[in-house]
Amino acid sequence: MIKTGAQHIETLRDGRQVHINGQAAGDVTVHPAFRRTIRSVGALYDFQARPDNRELMTFEVPEGGGRRANRIWQLPRSHAGLVERRRALEAWTELHYGFLGRAPDHVASCISGMFMGIEVFEAYDKARAGALSEYYRFARDNELYLTYAILNPQADRSKPASEQQDRLLTAGVVDQDAGGLTIRGAKMLATGGIMANEVLITCIQPLREGDEPYAVSFAVPMNAGGLKILSRKSYEESAVSVFDNPLASRFDENDAVLYFDDVKVPWDRVFINQDIAMCQRQFHATPAHVFQNYQAQIRLMVKMRFLTGIARRIAETNGVIGFPQVREALGQLAAQNAMVDALVHAMEVKGRMRGAYFVPDAHTLYSAQVLTQQLYCEVITALRELAGGGLIMVPSSAQDFADPHLRGLIDKTQQSPVTSPEGRVKFFKLAWDAVGSEFASRHTQYEMFYAGASFVTKGHSFRTFDWDRCTQLVDHMLDSYSLDDGAGRGALDAA
Ligand SMILES: Cc1cc2nc3c(=O)[nH]c(=O)nc-3n(C[C@H](O)[C@H](O)[C@H](O)COP(=O)(O)OP(=O)(O)OC[C@H]3O[C@@H](n4cnc5c(N)ncnc54)[C@H](O)[C@@H]3O)c2cc1C
Repeated sequence: MIKTGAQHIETLRDGRQVHINGQAAGDVTVHPAFRRTIRSVGALYDFQARPDNRELMTFEVPEGGGRRANRIWQLPRSHAGLVERRRALEAWTELHYGFLGRAPDHVASCISGMFMGIEVFEAYDKARAGALSEYYRFARDNELYLTYAILNPQADRSKPASEQQDRLLTAGVVDQDAGGLTIRGAKMLATGGIMANEVLITCIQPLREGDEPYAVSFAVPMNAGGLKILSRKSYEESAVSVFDNPLASRFDENDAVLYFDDVKVPWDRVFINQDIAMCQRQFHATPAHVFQNYQAQIRLMVKMRFLTGIARRIAETNGVIGFPQVREALGQLAAQNAMVDALVHAMEVKGRMRGAYFVPDAHTLYSAQVLTQQLYCEVITALRELAGGGLIMVPSSAQDFADPHLRGLIDKTQQSPVTSPEGRVKFFKLAWDAVGSEFASRHTQYEMFYAGASFVTKGHSFRTFDWDRCTQLVDHMLDSYSLDDGAGRGALDAA
C-alpha cells in the first residue's frame, strides 16, 4: 500500500507537543500556522499514490514479495538506477517548486546513504548497525516522513558543547540503562519537524574530547514523551491570503528548536552511542552526506528553474523584454540555471560504484554546494533589479478587488502589455513572495546555511578535490627545465 495525503495528515494527530505564540498548538493539522503547508505535504503523498505515477514514483522493494515503496528509499545499483531515482525526486519537487527544503526525500536520502555504508556501522558496533538496518526498512515500509536536527544550538561557538556555560544546553545523554538512553537538552533546528513523523538526532559538527555525551545518533517520533517542539514565527499564519502570499501560505515548512526533556530512546533506535569519531564517519565514511546533499541540489535545480521563470515573466509583464540589457540579465540567469542543471548531471555521470551501490561524485557535489550558496543571493538580487518597484506597487490585499471603486482604480493603475490588471497584481504578489517577503528572506538564509556555513562547504570541497591531478601538471612543468640544462641563462635560444 502506498500512503496517501489523508493518511499522512492523520499520522500527525499524535499528541506532539508543539508550542507557538505562547501556547500549545494542539492538533497541528488544523492550526492556522501549519495546516495549509501540511496539506501541501499531503499532496506529495497523493501524487505518489496515483496509479499513473506508480512507475515514476515507486520501486519494488527487494525483499518485499512485490511490495513497492517510494523511490526516495531506492538504493541505486547503477547510473541508470540513480537517474531513475532522480526523476522521481525531480517530479516530487516540482509540486513545491523547491520551497520545501526538508521535504520527505531529504532525510530519506541521508538514512539510505547510511544504510548503503552499513559496513561502517558494523565495524563500530554490530548491535547499533542492526538498529540502523532495521530502521531503514521500518521507515521505508511505513513511509515515514523524517527530518533531522544535526546541529547544536548557537551559544558560544568558540567553545565545545561540554564547555558551554550550561553543560546541559546541548542535547546529550544523561542516563543509560537496559532500556536505552535518556536525552536532555536542545538541538538547534528541525525544519519540517512539525509536519514530519520522526526526527533523526545526531551531531555533524566536529566534537572534541569531553563532548562524548553529545556524540549520539538516534531517531524518535515527533510525539516522543518529553520532546518539546518550539516553532519559529509562522509565515503561513501571517500570510494575508493565498492570492497575496501564494508561497508563504502553502509552503512554509517551518523550523523549530527541539528540546529534549529527559526523552527515553530505546536501544533499537540508537545508531551511535557516545562516539565522537563515529559521528563524523556516519556522514563521511558512508554515502550519507553525499546522498542527502545530492537531493538538495536536485531540489535547487527545480527552484532555480522556477526563479528563472519568474525573471522572464517580470521582463514580459513590464514590457522590458526587448531591451538588450534586460536580455543580457536574462541570459546570465539562463546560464546560471544551466550550470546548476549541469552540475546535477555531472554528479551522476562522474558517479561510481561503492560496493554494491552507485553513488554521485562527491567533489562535484561539494563544488555545487559552494557555488550555489553564493549563486542564490545573486539570483535574488538579479530578480529584484529586473522588477524595480513593481514588487511593491501592488494593492494591500485581495480584498481591495472586492470594492468596486478600488477595483476601478486597480484596473486603471495596474497596466501591463501582456496581462490584465488582475493578472499583473497576481504575478507580482507571487514574485514578491519568492524574492522579498519574510518567507522569501528565510529562503535566502536557508540556501546560504542549510548545508553549513560557507567555510564548512568550502572545507568539503578542499577535502575531496583531486589536488594531485593539478599539482602533477605543475610538477611536470617544473621538471621540464633546470639550471643544469641552461634554462637559467636568460636567452630562449639557450635551448
Ligand atoms: C532556515 C534554516 C533552516 C535550517 N534547518 C535545519 C535543519 O532542519 N536541521 C539542522 O540540523 N540544521 C538546520 N539548520 C541549521 C544549519 O545547519 C546551520 O545554520 C548551519 O550548519 C550553520 O551553522 P550555524 O547556523 O550555527 O552558523 P555558525 O556555525 O555559527 O556560523 C555563522 C557564521 O559565523 C562565522 N563562524 C562561525 N564559526 C566559525 C569558524 N569556526 N570559523 C570561521 N568562521 C566561523 C562565519 O561567518 C559563519 O558564516 C537550518 C538553518 C537555517 C538558516
